[in-house]
Amino acid sequence: MNAEIIAVGSELLLGQIANTNAKFISNQLSELGINVFYHTVVGDNPGRLKEVIEVAEKRADLIIFSGGLGPTKDDLTKETIASHLNVPLTLDNVALSFIEEFFAKRGRGMTENNRKQALVLEGCEVLANHHGMAPGMYLEKDGRTYMLLPGPPKELEPMFQFEAKPILAKRLNLDGTIISHVLRFYGIGEAELEVQIQDILDNQSNPTVAPLASDGEVTLRITAKAATEEEAWKLIDQKKAEILAIVGEFQYGVDDDSLTSKTVEMLLHNGLTISAAESLTAGLFQSELAEISGVSGTLVGGFVTYTEQAKIDQLGIEKELLEKFGVVSSECAAAMAVNARKLMGTDIGIGLTGAAGPEPHDGQPAGTIWIGFSIGDTLVTRKLELSGMRNTNRLRAVKYTCSYLMR
Ligand code: ATP
Ligand code: MG
Repeated sequence: MNAEIIAVGSELLLGQIANTNAKFISNQLSELGINVFYHTVVGDNPGRLKEVIEVAEKRADLIIFSGGLGPTKDDLTKETIASHLNVPLTLDNVALSFIEEFFAKRGRGMTENNRKQALVLEGCEVLANHHGMAPGMYLEKDGRTYMLLPGPPKELEPMFQFEAKPILAKRLNLDGTIISHVLRFYGIGEAELEVQIQDILDNQSNPTVAPLASDGEVTLRITAKAATEEEAWKLIDQKKAEILAIVGEFQYGVDDDSLTSKTVEMLLHNGLTISAAESLTAGLFQSELAEISGVSGTLVGGFVTYTEQAKIDQLGIEKELLEKFGVVSSECAAAMAVNARKLMGTDIGIGLTGAAGPEPHDGQPAGTIWIGFSIGDTLVTRKLELSGMRNTNRLRAVKYTCSYLMR
């Protein structure tokens, strides 16, 4: 099954918002093994919308629309599709009572154009909207499938996941199941990973294996189709074992894990407390850890010491040390880590210092980063030489710190 996603909305063309709906839907479709060949964006204009529908019908079996289901005048997706397909719009009583309830709950009066939102394409399967008013629609006609989804991501995403996806999964594999499992890697580039598992990538059918790189991490999505969930998992586990036999040393997690969530998990599991003194990251390391609930069991606190003087005043680092070695140095990172650990009374202290870029800092080229790890009586420093943009470098420093801690 080949799909095309048509995002409707002039604000997308004006550059006011990014087409995150297409990204989300594509991602979801890949889990189902559905190929997306085209993303199309068109303004709130019925003539041009009709044109892109005609093009899509020539090259896709599944056409998914996002946006333009609302009550206002510029919301024309439903009406345009109805007239194009020659399918009338009929009032859906479930959707109508839902909208009435929505207004009743808020003590507000309903206007006539809100009723318009309860109109659906005749013969469609209605996709319930639990986060807004416009219902979605699923319609099969003349061998093609049309799916209409609302624009706001907080409405579209759950509707796709919980209403539309099960229908598609059923359509694709009437008495079977499709399961996806993601392996997460750090410390190996996408190209290198692909070379290492070339044979697996070249000879895949079921399960399929799809690599994806972002923010210095690489993921492999394994997708298996089978008659039962148990069989699908068996296929996934086999493929996973084959992959990990080759690149297992770089794997840090699965599915929704992140480097920070795994780091916090490890620290809590080992009953270790941590603190940090941060210069170039200015608190980013601690902030990333703090995104994980339960972190208070390990993160005690720390310091943001951006200037040389702050490192002296807050951390008690000797001026002579900074003068001798500079702030972007192994010695400075080590002193920051040790002093943070002692001052906060933790098991582990982290020191992060460096030249985030784009300019060199303290005589060191942009992207030079030193990280100190004071772990009990052990003291280790590591140097990174990064070439990214300023904030990419700062984030990479944090990710590297986590990956090192998890070793
Ligand atoms: P509403 O009932 O809110 O009007 P709608 O289905 O008519 O919903 P639109 O009017 O097209 O949808 O868009 C509403 C909002 O949803 C936009 O202002 C934007 O914030 C968001 N949105 C629309 N399309 C996209 C998209 N492709 N990607 C991300 N966000 C989008
Ligand atoms: Mg709208």
